[in-house]
Amino acid sequence: MSTETRFRLLLVEDEPTQRLMLERQLTRAGYVVDTAENGQEALNKILEGRYQILLTDWDMPGMDGPTLCRRVREANLSTYVYILLLTGHLTTDDAVAGLSAGADDYVRKPANPSELLARLTAGSRIVRLEQSLREANEKIQLLSITDSLAGTFNRRYLNDQILKEVERARRHDRPLAAIMADIDRFKRINDERGHASGDEVLRQFADLAKSLIRPGDWIARYGGEEFVIVLPETDAIQAAEAAERIRAQCACTPMALSTGHIEVTASFGVAALSRVPQSIESAADALLRDADSALYTSKNEGRNRVTIANRHDLSAD
Ligand code: GH3
Ligand code: MG
Ligand code: MG
Ligand code: MG
Repeated sequence: MSTETRFRLLLVEDEPTQRLMLERQLTRAGYVVDTAENGQEALNKILEGRYQILLTDWDMPGMDGPTLCRRVREANLSTYVYILLLTGHLTTDDAVAGLSAGADDYVRKPANPSELLARLTAGSRIVRLEQSLREANEKIQLLSITDSLAGTFNRRYLNDQILKEVERARRHDRPLAAIMADIDRFKRINDERGHASGDEVLRQFADLAKSLIRPGDWIARYGGEEFVIVLPETDAIQAAEAAERIRAQCACTPMALSTGHIEVTASFGVAALSRVPQSIESAADALLRDADSALYTSKNEGRNRVTIANRHDLSAD
């Protein structure tokens, strides 16, 4: 087993000889073992989030095993920690108490080495299962907010996230801007080069825009050949500068498609969050509507340009 696929196990035992003995057995069995002498030290280490398995003694000075279990569960770590309690307590009530404190399983002391390893192997299966479920969930989550063609966020993400951005900007009284971008004469690209080339243009345009925005700014496909870029902490003038960078770079670099090079331009509309008192939803709608009408002006005035929405809002007074 390589170090990456081996599980990191934290062994907590106050008795030094026991600790050393167990550490040797577990290391020999392939675990990457770290040790702690008491509950508090163990908790500090577990909270770093690097361990998949916790093997803990029950009786220890200070924080005992069940309390440690409870604290680990309360911490709600982002990855699962499988907990095995080592216990000298033999009654059913004790077992129930240990399990309800958050342990997954328990082994009676003195632990029979092969039983202990067998139970850890069973625990490892749970850990592995949880890891693959979590990875699958992360993948699904990412897919649900991604536009697979353009490689940007999708409309659904835009709808949800823009409300959060507006809310945050309002709460901290910070600026927020949006750019609406639309590729010029895109229908002609499809007609002349085919739909697949059109798709390539969408992807390349999105990549270009992504490469020219700051970390914290994000881009979503709004529809067909239309994208929205959201720029937190940015006013309309700064957003127009960002739009201009993208416009200029796009206009001066022909895109290399599988059907040959092609010159592509795009038009942009820029708007900033208004300070008009209104609901978060209305403010987000207005932001996008203003960017869209500025984009409409760019189209009407000849395309391949950036227009800033001029809005008669209360903030101007
Ligand atoms: P304008 O400069 O006014 O924006 O003209 P335009 O041709 O870009 O705009 P129009 O709205 O007339 O056409 C947009 C075209 O985009 C029409 C539609 O078939 C095409 N389109 C929409 N979604 C996709 C897609 O996913 N892939 C491709 N290749 N084309 C798409
Ligand atoms: Mg002890
Ligand atoms: Mg267009
Ligand atoms: Mg369009």
